Amino acid sequence: MVAEIISVGTELLLGNTVNTNAAYLAEQCARLGICVYYQSVVGDNEERLTETIRLALSRSDVVFLGGGLGPTEDDLTKETAAKLFSHELVEDEHTKRRIAAYFERIGKEATENNWKQALVPEQAIILDNENGSAPGLIMEEGKKTLILLPGPPMEMIPMFESSVFPYLSDRVGEVILSKVLKICGIGESSVEQELRDLIHETDNPTIATYAKTGEVTVRVTARAKTESEAKRLIKPYVRQMKCRFGKNIYSTDENAQLEDVVVGLMRQQNLTLTTVESCTGGLLAGRLVNVPGVSDIFKQGYVTYSNKAKRKLVGVKKDTLAANGAVSEKTAREMAKGALLRTGSDMAVSITGIAGPEGGTQEKPVGLVYIACSLKGKVTVRKCQFFGSRKKIRECSVSAALVLMRDCILENFEL
Ligand code: AMP
Ligand code: MG
Repeated sequence: MVAEIISVGTELLLGNTVNTNAAYLAEQCARLGICVYYQSVVGDNEERLTETIRLALSRSDVVFLGGGLGPTEDDLTKETAAKLFSHELVEDEHTKRRIAAYFERIGKEATENNWKQALVPEQAIILDNENGSAPGLIMEEGKKTLILLPGPPMEMIPMFESSVFPYLSDRVGEVILSKVLKICGIGESSVEQELRDLIHETDNPTIATYAKTGEVTVRVTARAKTESEAKRLIKPYVRQMKCRFGKNIYSTDENAQLEDVVVGLMRQQNLTLTTVESCTGGLLAGRLVNVPGVSDIFKQGYVTYSNKAKRKLVGVKKDTLAANGAVSEKTAREMAKGALLRTGSDMAVSITGIAGPEGGTQEKPVGLVYIACSLKGKVTVRKCQFFGSRKKIRECSVSAALVLMRDCILENFEL
């Protein structure tokens, strides 16, 4: 099956909105084993949209149309698609009720033009929108299918997952199953190197790696007639990877984040935590607070940006700062130790580094970061060298701190 993605919206052509929906849809098609040969972007213009859809239908079985389902004048995707297929637009009672319920839920009054969204092409499959008013639509004509999806990603993605993915997977006639391994503490190129033989050995399941700041996700995807057959195909590869990456695998749950796992380990061991941050300015505390209920372990976070704050708040010695500078192993160590002493937590983590773009020297370049973790009387310090923008360096520092925390806990409790 061949699919094609058309993103509709003048804001996309102007570069005001980044076309993240096309990337998402393309990735999902790959997951489903559906080929995508073309993607295009077209403005809110009926003539050009008609021409673009016609061309797409001439060369693809399934055409995604994203955006232009809103209530305003310039939203004309549905009208254009219906005209092209000669499908009449009719009022759909179910959608009308759903729109009414949606506005009731968000406590707003629906405007006159919102009801335009209850008009749907006859014969279309209606996809309920849990997060907005515009329904998605699947229109079939002969062997060709148009799939109309709302523009806002927070409406489009849940709709795709709950309705479009099952629809397409049914059409493909196969079960597509994937297993994810989340890896930390090793870079993407090393992970890929380690997996090269397996990646080349198999095309069902396929093995793909994706890098995110400070971590790597490996996805093993199998296609089969049944779910149990797909599981059987995946299993030996996952087993191999578990052997190869061991403790570097921090989760096999697609939705788990590194901070969830670290907080989970701390809870399990009954540990409390204090953070002391310099160059990350509270970013680590912020990531930890992403985890619901973290207050049972996270006691306090210091942001000690200046040397004075490092001395006053967590007792870094004047001599240490004078002799080694704020970005040094010794300062990181004293920050963690001081924080532990002052708060009585079981564990303290400190971060001090040069986020740039200025402030680097030959000896201490931009991206040099020291991270320390104090646990059970032992302080472990890691020296890291990151690259990229200030934002990237700060995010990498936070991920590295989470990895260090995890390593210290695993080692200390022999997990
Ligand atoms: P629309 O359904 O065309 O009215 O789009 C509503 C909003 O969704 C736009 O203003 C954008 O913010 C967002 N949006 C539309 N298309 C895309 C896309 N392809 N990728 C990301 N966001 C989009
Ligand atoms: Mg639009």
